[in-house]
Amino acid sequence: MMIEPERMTDTFVTLARIDSPSFEEREIAEHLIGQLRALGGDVTMDEAGSAVGGNAGNVFARFAGTGRGPAVLLSAHMDTVSPGRGVRPVREGQRIRSDGSTILGADDKSGLAIILEVLRTLRERKLPHPPIEVVFTICEESGLMGAKALHLSRLAARDGLVLDSGPASSLFVRGPAADKLEVTVSGRAAHAGVCPERGLSAIQVAAEAIARMRLGRIDHETTANIGLIEGGTAVNIVPDRVTLRGEARSHDEEKLAAQSSHMVRCFHDAAAARAVRSGTDAIQAQIEAKVTRDYNRMRLGDQAPVVQWVLEAARQTKATVKCESTGGGCDANVFNSHGLRIANLGTGMREIHTTGEYLLLEEFFQTGRVVLSMLQQAVAK
Ligand SMILES: [Zn+2]
Repeated sequence: MMIEPERMTDTFVTLARIDSPSFEEREIAEHLIGQLRALGGDVTMDEAGSAVGGNAGNVFARFAGTGRGPAVLLSAHMDTVSPGRGVRPVREGQRIRSDGSTILGADDKSGLAIILEVLRTLRERKLPHPPIEVVFTICEESGLMGAKALHLSRLAARDGLVLDSGPASSLFVRGPAADKLEVTVSGRAAHAGVCPERGLSAIQVAAEAIARMRLGRIDHETTANIGLIEGGTAVNIVPDRVTLRGEARSHDEEKLAAQSSHMVRCFHDAAAARAVRSGTDAIQAQIEAKVTRDYNRMRLGDQAPVVQWVLEAARQTKATVKCESTGGGCDANVFNSHGLRIANLGTGMREIHTTGEYLLLEEFFQTGRVVLSMLQQAVAK
């Protein structure tokens, strides 16, 4: 039990009180830079902020090893979702929640607090550890933008952990690849009362396309969603344009490709089915569809060093940790896309992205102990 639970809790509460919506991470970044420097780190901020239009970049810190071994990466994200301004953390027994009017921001300030406490403990107790590289990212919640803008060549570490998920017993080693889908349907505008027959409703074509589409859970490793629809100008105008945004995810590349092209095909089929005649012309809605890779899948084998270290750390600290699959995406997907071997360990956060979000302190402490022990496992024996 070498970490200090009360101190780690205080660190979390301090971080939770600092507003840090995506694109506005400056204040928390400066606070963290101060903490990391005080712990002896060589700390810099990168230029990702200007690349994504935010007020701060990703924070990097390097700590020289006191024992031998390959460098280990520890990462968490600094940004939070809304409503996340003016968070007032409330401690209730073995939990911390918000006052109910905002999220808590345990996603992912619990991860930040664990990393700071582990670094503090290593330093105070002069424990042997390998070189450690810390990356605190911006804009994870808005499409992993900070991680995507990272220059990974700055990192020496090839192995490590992202602390950004719920149960402390879950070490996520497999996650899906994701495609983003953006479709614009263009029809023809007309006065809806005077001459609707001259129009072609883009909204109707889009609705018919969605009605044909397989969405939601497709199978045990594939999901799909249309999340945003935007279009139309007035109730008395046949809408000539609507834009839809969605996604598909799968652990299997072939299934992902099939689902993405199925979604696009539904739009083309709906447009063909709704073609209208205007005099001698046949008019058909135009479909402009763009499918782009959002992130690649994550798939670590049981033999990956970080998996071995964490499982051994769990044994040593008598914690239960199991390798699992997730349907979610996080910064680890981006790191792994570049050939790093990064797993995602839970921190005790629950009901994230809601005003009912809370942090289970026992799990939060467990992950602190496991991460501290994991760094001991990573020291070359
Ligand atoms: Zn998160």
